[in-house]
Amino acid sequence: MYINVSLCQFAKLNNAKINHSLLQLSKVNGFPSLDNKYAKSILIRLLNERESIPITKFLDIASSYYALKNTISDMEKDGLVKIEEKVLGRKMIFVSLTEKGRAVAEQLKRAEQISKLSPEELERFKNMRGLIHINIYKDHITVMDVHMGEKRIANIYARPRGDEIYFWCDLHEDVDCYHIEYMFADPDLSDFIHNWIDENGFKLPKKYQKYVDKYW
Ligand SMILES: [Zn+2]
Repeated sequence: MYINVSLCQFAKLNNAKINHSLLQLSKVNGFPSLDNKYAKSILIRLLNERESIPITKFLDIASSYYALKNTISDMEKDGLVKIEEKVLGRKMIFVSLTEKGRAVAEQLKRAEQISKLSPEELERFKNMRGLIHINIYKDHITVMDVHMGEKRIANIYARPRGDEIYFWCDLHEDVDCYHIEYMFADPDLSDFIHNWIDENGFKLPKKYQKYVDKYW
């Protein structure tokens, strides 16, 4: 997997709108605990942990144990983390992500990656639709769609059917949508398609010929 942030060539978002979108992305609504300055860092850090970890591991980011405990307790109320007490010689508090917490943490991590874009990269957002592809895996890609300031993640899976390769968007539940058009339009994502054709020997269905004609 690699992280790759680039933008699609079609459409219109001016910088102000983009900055607004980024701002929206950096906030996940509906979880008051995330207003706490430590909460986001804790969530993102927990993303890398498989098991529950002692909350004392976060002492480096919080000003005190008391502040940390309060933050984590608020996060538990929001359903983002699970707290367990374990007695290991002394009583210790362990914390892990809930499923909801994991989903929110993943969004935050992506938003964080975007916020690290340089001004030149941000400039590239100009006149673009606000589709950002972020992750390319072996069998699927993840596209963050920040169109109109709304944040949505689309996973696009490669789906072989016979000797043809289809791409299926889980957001539209369809093998053809503007996310799929974006894959053809974007050079890096086109590599993902080419890989299926050149390396794995699949053919493109007729359905996608319009994009081949338009972008390749
Ligand atoms: Zn789609």
